[in-house]
Amino acid sequence: MLLAGSAMAASVQDVAERYRRLVLAIGQHDSNYVDAYYGPPELENEAVRAKQTLASIRGDVEVAMADIAQHKAANVDEALRIEFLSKQLRAMLARVDMLEGKKFSFDEETALLYDAITPHHDRAYYMGLVAQVDKLVPGTGPLPERLKAFRAKFAIPKNRLKLVFDASIAACRARTAAFVTLPEGESFVMEFVSDKPWSAYNWYKGNAHSLIQINTELPIYIESAVEFGCHEGYPGHHVYNALLEQELVKGRNWIEFSVYPLYSPMSLIAEGSANYGIEVAFTDDERLAFEQEVLYPLAGIEPTLAPQYARLMKLISKLGYADNDAAQQYLAGTLTREQTLEWLVNVALYPPEKAPQRLSFYDANGGYVINYNLGKDMVKAWVEKQVTNTDPVAARKQRWEAFKALLASPRLASALR
Ligand SMILES: [Zn+2]
Repeated sequence: MLLAGSAMAASVQDVAERYRRLVLAIGQHDSNYVDAYYGPPELENEAVRAKQTLASIRGDVEVAMADIAQHKAANVDEALRIEFLSKQLRAMLARVDMLEGKKFSFDEETALLYDAITPHHDRAYYMGLVAQVDKLVPGTGPLPERLKAFRAKFAIPKNRLKLVFDASIAACRARTAAFVTLPEGESFVMEFVSDKPWSAYNWYKGNAHSLIQINTELPIYIESAVEFGCHEGYPGHHVYNALLEQELVKGRNWIEFSVYPLYSPMSLIAEGSANYGIEVAFTDDERLAFEQEVLYPLAGIEPTLAPQYARLMKLISKLGYADNDAAQQYLAGTLTREQTLEWLVNVALYPPEKAPQRLSFYDANGGYVINYNLGKDMVKAWVEKQVTNTDPVAARKQRWEAFKALLASPRLASALR
């Protein structure tokens, strides 16, 4: 039996190696596809040299899918690994279809690429929430204009961005390190950039190191300091990637985790955990106290406004799914470009200056937007189900343990249900 077991393990390992090479091969056709790779550099050079055609990639993906479907898992861990490879390969095939010009509906695309389908809501649903926001924003006249004027008080002056972000990331890291043993020597560098279709990005480099870029082209509001610090850094993308590397790549030689294809089910876990990580690291009260006492003074923003702004932002965050519906309608052609911008400003309550950037994001990334809000809700539900203790201190410890277990595992969306 030992022989059969090890022969089977070698075969899963073989599929894993082919999978890793195929991700790099698709990267030659889609420059956004390989979000991180820290395996042997020769494989990357080989992918560049070979420049495998999409048709040939498709054939190899199909063979790998058939191979992995043959395997019966020997234990829970191996079952998750096999499921991970099957789902990632299925997404890969869909991405090849898309690169060859095939059009999927929004929901078909997200089911194939991210292993999940978002609920949809109509304008009237969101306008009910917008009416509640309206009551919290001072002044008279149309809400988007009042909101814009109010938000302007919370923009971080450019010359204070570094100060504010350094303080915020340090706090996110300390709060995470109190519950998660971070890989030894883990580190990041932060850079301020412009002219990107996103507001912040974590580029994972391997060996527990990340490059965190913050896009300063548009105003950055004070809530972003904690959000980006947690989301891109601790306990978000940087920690997720560092734990996958430590536990799976180095710990088990599961080489498939040394590459991260952006348009794949991994992204729902990555974005969902990065967004949920904000509330794992800070309760609402802790976050408010930290922002009011530390970040507002560093940014030169009036601290007495903090509670009102926090309430407003909390309510606006309930409009998160309006982003999915904007993308879905825009990509389906149900809304024109102008109508989508209108929806983003009046329904999703996006800062007007940020709405065009969001359209560029939809153009570049299609259904990816669901990973932020649906991903967060799915990760949150899965983690909270495991918090059984009613004592707040013990419950917090349980929450972190479940959260850490998810970050260091190959679990994808369907395994969260
Ligand atoms: Zn992210």
